[in-house]
Parts: sequence; C-alpha cells; structure tokens
Amino acid sequence: MRATLMYGAGDVRVEQVPDSVIALPTDALVRITASCICGTDLWRYGSMKPEEGPARMGHEFIGVVEDTGSQVARLKRGDLVVAPFAIADNTCQFCREGLHTSCTHPQAGFWGGPSSEGGQAEAIRVPLADGNLVRLPVEADSALLPSLLTLSDVFGTGHHAAVAGGVNPSTRVTVIGDGAVGLLAVLAARRLGAEQIILMGRHRARTGLGREFGATDVVAARGGEGIEAVRELTGGHGTHVVVEAVGTRPAYRQALGVVRSGGVISRVGVPQYEDAPIGFGSLFRRSIRLAGGPAPVRAYIEELMPDVLDGTVEPGKVFDAATGLDGVPSGYQDMADRRSLKVLIKP
Ligand SMILES: [Zn+2]
Repeated sequence: MRATLMYGAGDVRVEQVPDSVIALPTDALVRITASCICGTDLWRYGSMKPEEGPARMGHEFIGVVEDTGSQVARLKRGDLVVAPFAIADNTCQFCREGLHTSCTHPQAGFWGGPSSEGGQAEAIRVPLADGNLVRLPVEADSALLPSLLTLSDVFGTGHHAAVAGGVNPSTRVTVIGDGAVGLLAVLAARRLGAEQIILMGRHRARTGLGREFGATDVVAARGGEGIEAVRELTGGHGTHVVVEAVGTRPAYRQALGVVRSGGVISRVGVPQYEDAPIGFGSLFRRSIRLAGGPAPVRAYIEELMPDVLDGTVEPGKVFDAATGLDGVPSGYQDMADRRSLKVLIKP
C-alpha cells in the first residue's frame, strides 16, 4: 500500500510501505476514503530534522472498516467511520471527563511517529478501535464527507477553543488566525450564540469565509494597530474570549492586547514557544485566565455530528483543494505557501 512519509523539512514523499494489518485484538483495519493535510503538519514541514524521520503523516481520516480484532465489539466490516486526531480508549478516568487527549491507556497518543501509522495513506491500523472510531450514518460517497472529516480535528478543535473559552450568547469573541481552525472557531462561536465575533486575519478569501461562518467583524491589521482596532470595536474593553489559533508568541501578545479584563485566552494553536508574559502586568492585574490545549475532539464528535448531517453547519467549506495521494507533496507546499487553505486527500 502507499502512505505519506516526511523525511525532513520540505521533504514529503508518497511511498510503498508494508500493508497495514491487525496487530492487536483491539485493532481495526480501515481503508481510508478521505483524509487531509493539517496546519499542524506544516510546523514539522517547516522545521523537521532528517534524524527525526521518516515519519508517517496524517491524523485526520474517514474510512471503511475492512477487518476487526477479536475484542472489537462496536464495529464491523463495512462500517464507514471517522477517527479523532488523538488515540484514546474512551473509557479511562480522563476520557470519561472528556479529556481524551490525556488518556492514560498505554496505546493512547497521536497518529504518526514511530508507534502508529498515519492517515495520509491508503489504509491504517487503528488501535483501541472501539474507543476511537465513530460510525457515520451516511453512504461512502456522501456529499457531507468533507464536513464530516472536519470532526476528526479542525471543527472539533475550533469548538473546543470556544468551549474552553466559555463562549455563550452574552460573550464577545476575538479569533486570532484565519487558518482552518480559526475559521471553524468562528463557526463554533456562532453556533454557541456569541454576540460579537471579531476575526483577526489578513488573507481576504479566508476572512470572507470567516464572515460566511459568522464573523461580525474582520480586522486585517496586526500588532498594536490590530489591538487598537479590536478595542475600538468593543467600546475600548476588548472581548471576553480570545481564541488564539496560531501558536506564535506574537499571536499570544496580540491575544493579551485584545482580551477584556476578567476574560479568557483560549489557545488551540500549538505554541511554538515556552516563555511568554503571565505576570502582574499581563494576566494577573486584569484577572485574565489562560485555557486551551490539544482538543479532545473525540468528546465532541457525537455532539457536533447532527448539525453537520442536517446542514446547519458546513465546516467542510474549509477545503479549497482536493488531490489523490500523488498530489500530497505539492499539497503541503501549497498550504505552506498559503495558496491552499486546507487540502482534501482522496487516496
Ligand atoms: Zn482514556
């Protein structure tokens, strides 16, 4: 079978690999019908050292169950399923509390890397299949598949950002970042009834989609100028919730500048820094809280799916390009160059 491997920064190849097989009785073997490239993959695409590779890539996928291990009870051959980006058992104490990204099972973790396979491939071995895979009540060729695929990461992550920030109908929200997660945080905040949603981003096609998803205002300026613009839109106070969907220190500083006193900065962009202001003059004096983390999207799939199935939301609009496996390497480059927002893969 064929799978995507990253050998180092800027070096993605689609190669022949050994066929995926059931290795443990709790595994399922899934033939992948839809996958995609994530903004998170781009951090490694920009900086991965050759000695860290080659790594199997892809953590978002939909597919058809081809085979199941002897202990898999909830799934059968032929089921169309979606997988969350983090592997969890869905039964331990953290999973029961809805924090699947802190699952304590020894097989829990993330797709790709040395111990698990990746979703940008023809097939995949899914550990802890009963806990991870969620059946989709549609046909394999459904037009809803792109939107359902976003339940594996970007829609669930945008939703988590909004939930962790405490978005409700009386909150004003700023979303920093016009990538797929930022745009879907806008959609999630709208879905949760936010009164005002300010999207900070400068890519016009993307901020246009952000308006379609529910942004009430768009601020293209960054830094001090951007902060000033958000404050003007909010009576000088900033917003109760700031979703930081970029992950850089300048984005964090921007979040500090636009958050309202007593508010929450909810981070879902993977931080590319360890040191940032948290002291008296930044968080403490204004009673600002810091929230977020890797989203436990498994906890949200059943909750978000009905709105996708009935067309209330169309998160799949973030896909602006599609390719087979052969086009995956150029898909990475297109996303790195911001020519594509998010690339759908049909293996
Ligand atoms: Zn668990």
